[in-house]
Amino acid sequence: MLQDMDVGRLENEFRNIAACPEDIIICFHEGEVLLSRTTDDSLMLPTLAHVAGWQTIVAPRYIFRMQERNYFLWTDVAPAAPEGFAYEPVRQLRQLKSKEICFAVMTAWHLYNWYRANRFCGCCGTPTEHDSKGRMLRCLKCGNMIFPRISPAVIVAVTDGDRLLLSKYAGRAYTHYALLAGYTEIGETIEQTVHREVMEEVGLRVKNLRYYKSQPWGVDGNVLMGFFCDVDGSDAIHIDENELAMAGWYPRDALPAGDDGISLTREMIRVFGENKEPK
Ligand SMILES: [Zn+2]
Repeated sequence: MLQDMDVGRLENEFRNIAACPEDIIICFHEGEVLLSRTTDDSLMLPTLAHVAGWQTIVAPRYIFRMQERNYFLWTDVAPAAPEGFAYEPVRQLRQLKSKEICFAVMTAWHLYNWYRANRFCGCCGTPTEHDSKGRMLRCLKCGNMIFPRISPAVIVAVTDGDRLLLSKYAGRAYTHYALLAGYTEIGETIEQTVHREVMEEVGLRVKNLRYYKSQPWGVDGNVLMGFFCDVDGSDAIHIDENELAMAGWYPRDALPAGDDGISLTREMIRVFGENKEPK
């Protein structure tokens, strides 16, 4: 999946450090990120040296370390792209050849949106301050402490013996087959989310929930939790047409191919096809 790297890992421990010219700088501008791409194989994020000519009164903010490189975030308005670079839409990043760049940018995007949405205290309206010891924004007037927001959500593979329930979302750019998915609501357990979402989206009862894996999905600010479960009782599907364009049962030996090494959904479909899901 996206977060599984061949070398190194994401080191997201908080550090209060200043940037050096060789450090990577991630620059967002209106839903796009600054990249260099002469060919897909030469994909590159800029370093501080590449944007040395940019003026700012706000120092770039350290966000994490990955594969022995420090990553910083450009927190001011990003100027025009320097020579050899261009801004590209964040939402198209999963098509990139480099999983590492895709994961780094998605994770940076998650933090960028959180910083941007919390420049002022939600309780009293005072500008917030960056804490020096942890990844936290603090209101010095009322004491409000604001931590990064991560929204829990489930991905659900409903099975019936050797059949898997696949669906397609309604009204979205993503047109591949998908599993059922939804956000956890306040006051419910993750398991209750699974039961509720399956009932809401396809009108089925489920049992025998088996947790599979989780995945950070920074482009939407989520952590996704994947479950397999069995249909309980009737297999008659009644779709919520606001959420889904279609849903149906597909045999284990005739599932759509295409584990892209990126998404939990596609890995779970492949794993079921190989009869390797948790039983
Ligand atoms: Zn406040």
